[in-house]
Amino acid sequence: TFRAALIEQTLERGRILQHEATLKDLPQDFLEDSGGDAPVDIDVHYSGINYKDGLALAGKPGVARTSPLIPGIDLVGEVTSSADPRFSPGDLVVLTGGGIGEAAHGGLAERARVSAKYLVKLPEGLSPKRAAAIGTAGFTAMLAVLALERGGVRPEAGEVVVSGAAGGVGSVAIAVLNQLGYRVTAVTGRVQEQGEYLRHLGAAELLDRKDFAEAGSALQKRRWAGGIDSAGSATLANILSQAEDGGTVASCGLAQGVDLPTTVMPFILRGVTLAGINSVTATPELREQAWARLASDLPVELLDDLTQEITLDGVFEQAEQILAGEVRGRTVVKLQA
Ligand code: NAP
Repeated sequence: TFRAALIEQTLERGRILQHEATLKDLPQDFLEDSGGDAPVDIDVHYSGINYKDGLALAGKPGVARTSPLIPGIDLVGEVTSSADPRFSPGDLVVLTGGGIGEAAHGGLAERARVSAKYLVKLPEGLSPKRAAAIGTAGFTAMLAVLALERGGVRPEAGEVVVSGAAGGVGSVAIAVLNQLGYRVTAVTGRVQEQGEYLRHLGAAELLDRKDFAEAGSALQKRRWAGGIDSAGSATLANILSQAEDGGTVASCGLAQGVDLPTTVMPFILRGVTLAGINSVTATPELREQAWARLASDLPVELLDDLTQEITLDGVFEQAEQILAGEVRGRTVVKLQA
C-alpha cells in the first residue's frame, strides 16, 4: 500500500453534494488506470499546498472534477518506470498543474502515475524540496515575469507592483523581480505582520490592500510600469488604471474575486496590456524556459526563507489556513526523502 490524501465526493453536474477528505493507505493498483497512453511512475518526494489544493481539500467547488481523487496539483519525485522514452528510472522530475489534483490523481501521495506530457526534469542544481517550494505558485510567478519581459517592461522602465504579496505567487514574484533589478511595490493586507518579511524578499515599498479594494476612476495617476496580480476584482482594475503608458499587467489569480470592474480606458488611452497567465496548460517549451529561469533568477536563500515544511497529516489544517489567507509564502509537503 501507499499513503495518500483522498477526496471522495458525490458530484452532480459540477455541484458537490457530499465531500470527505481523509488520509488513506491505498492499494498499489489504485493508480493502474492513471497517466494516459505513456504513464510515468514516480516515488513522490515532495508535494505542496496551493490555493487550489486548499479549495479541493475543503470541499469547495471548481477544482476536484472526479471522485475518488488524490489531490495535489504539484509533485516532485524520482521516476521508477516510464513508458515515455524521454524519462528513465532515477530521473528527478517536477510536475505542476497539467490537470493533476483536479481531473487526474495528484501529488499528495507517496506514489504517483502521471502523463509524461507536462513532466519536466529538475534543472541542474535544484533540489527536490526547493522545486516543490517553487511549485505551481512559483512557476506562475515566473510565467508572469516572462510576460512582463515580453511586454517590454525592463527594470529601468519604472516601478512594478505585486498584489497578494505575502502569498505564494506574490512572494516568489517579489524575490525574482528584485533579483532582476526591478523596484517592487508590494500590496498586502498584512503590512504589520508581514512587512519585514516582504522587505526581506525585496519589496522596496509596501501598500495596504485596502487602498485597492474598491474600484476607483477609470484613469488614475500613472504609477506602474508593470504589475503581477493575484487578487483580480477591484485590485486588478485599480492596477490597470494606474499603469503607465505601454505598461503590462499579468493577471494570475482571484484571491479577491473573479470579477473585473474596469473599462477599456487604460487599454485604448494608455496602451496598457493585460496578460493572462495559465500555469495549468503552459506548453512544455514554456515550462522548460520558466524552470531554467527559476533555477537562475530566484535566490535559493530567499526561497528557503519563504518555505515551510509539513507532512501529510498537516494538509487539512493547512488547507483551511490558505483559504483564510493566513499562510505566508510556500508550504511543501514531505512524502519521502
Ligand atoms: P496564496 O498563497 O493563498 O496567496 C494569495 C494572497 O492573496 C494572500 O496571501 C493574500 O496576500 C492575498 N489575498 C487574500 N485575500 C485577499 C482579498 N480578499 N483581496 C486581496 N488580496 C487577498 O495563494 P497563491 O498560491 O499565491 O495563489 C494566488 C492566486 O493565484 C490564487 O487566486 C490562485 O488561485 C491563483 N493562481 C493562479 C494560477 C494560474 O495559473 N493562473 C496559478 C497559481 C495560483 P496578502 O496577505 O499579502 O494580502
